[in-house]
Amino acid sequence: MRILISGASIAGPALAYWLGRYGHQPTIVEIAPALRTGGSAVDFRGPLHMSVLSKMGILDALRAVETHGTEMRFVDAQGATLMAWPAGLAGGDLEVQRGDLARILCDAAGDRTEYLFGDRIAAMTDTPAGVEVTFASGLQRRFDLVIGADGVHSAVRRFTFGPEEEFVKHLGYYVAGWEVPAPLGPDDALVMHNTPGRMAGAGRGGATFCFRSPKLSYDRHDPVAARQILRDRYAGMGWLTPELLSHLDSADGFWFDQICRVDNPAWTRGRVALVGDAACGATIGGQGNGTALVSAYVLAGELAAAGGDHTVAFPRYEQRIGKFARGTQKGGDTTGMFLAPKTATGIRLRNYVNNQKWFLDLTFKIAGHRSTNLTLPAYALDRACAAES
Ligand SMILES: Cc1cc2nc3c(=O)[nH]c(=O)nc-3n(C[C@H](O)[C@H](O)[C@H](O)COP(=O)(O)OP(=O)(O)OC[C@H]3O[C@@H](n4cnc5c(N)ncnc54)[C@H](O)[C@@H]3O)c2cc1C
Repeated sequence: MRILISGASIAGPALAYWLGRYGHQPTIVEIAPALRTGGSAVDFRGPLHMSVLSKMGILDALRAVETHGTEMRFVDAQGATLMAWPAGLAGGDLEVQRGDLARILCDAAGDRTEYLFGDRIAAMTDTPAGVEVTFASGLQRRFDLVIGADGVHSAVRRFTFGPEEEFVKHLGYYVAGWEVPAPLGPDDALVMHNTPGRMAGAGRGGATFCFRSPKLSYDRHDPVAARQILRDRYAGMGWLTPELLSHLDSADGFWFDQICRVDNPAWTRGRVALVGDAACGATIGGQGNGTALVSAYVLAGELAAAGGDHTVAFPRYEQRIGKFARGTQKGGDTTGMFLAPKTATGIRLRNYVNNQKWFLDLTFKIAGHRSTNLTLPAYALDRACAAES
């Protein structure tokens, strides 16, 4: 089948990898002119995530660039540690820079996948013969299926299910990241500083900022506007903040978004399906990377098991993954208030409880349970691999 995937980040290339291996012809359209390599360290935890990475044959490539569970420290304005999560705790079983993960997934999908960078779906019509797609570039094509892997602000979801406001809940915070020259951030830790409702952080991936705010009215596609919002919000904040902000204009990999949750009661309609954050995302803290890879594996596997019949495969995909994905997503609900508590008392309380071993043990037990709470079905390619070995 000819299958169009919107979004070349994590879920999109992972799905293209599996579809290509099952003999389909995936095309990925990505709105950015090239692969987006921004973002900080992301992690995989537990046997479920690790088994999917292993089935994809990308574990060695990821191990070669792993960041070994970066330590996370909150510090005062002079740099003294107030609270710390030791290295290894936050990083799960495998931690890599998000940009490295995206690149490795794209490489894995590469041979069998057609990429259309710098373009996007402008209109799509689901017909009995296929989905008629018009791209912003003017290109027109028909695909057997269209998959939205285009993140929390998915255009495919908007075209298929309705306006974003119906499905995306703002969780009261914004997050940003950009690259800075190496000496500014420590190489072995993510170090963060708070004032009430604001967090500025520096680490190997560059700058990571998070601030509390009701939903802002600005053009999401205008990085100049987003940069100005950051400058305004962080005016007067000490520590490394002015230096980190001074790299904003020249920085690569700039990323700015609201922290939000996607609540989509259905992930498929007709010949269209959603995967990754487009289906069930939380901007950060909801194990979005692991869930995206598991979901891509299941969606491609169910299509194969149903002999390509999407009317059978799509409901099975939703049934298999729904409870698991919505469970992992919950972690994102409290990420903003963890990173940037609203008051000075809230910051002190966050520091106090996170310095207690029993609290950390409990936190990571819950995260571990959520990330493994699924029995992974075996599909045709797994059986073929097992037979070969
Ligand atoms: C630049 C960037 C930096 C990130 N940094 C972090 C981080 O530091 N920590 C963290 O936990 N998570 C981060 N995330 C989110 C994380 O990648 C996802 O939560 C998770 O991996 C699920 O991935 P996804 O592929 O479903 O969605 P996403 O990673 O959000 O990717 C969606 C992709 O679709 C593309 N896209 C959007 N609209 C369209 C359109 N209309 N047409 C075509 N393409 C479109 C986007 O450019 C993007 O490449 C980041 C995402 C991006 C894009």
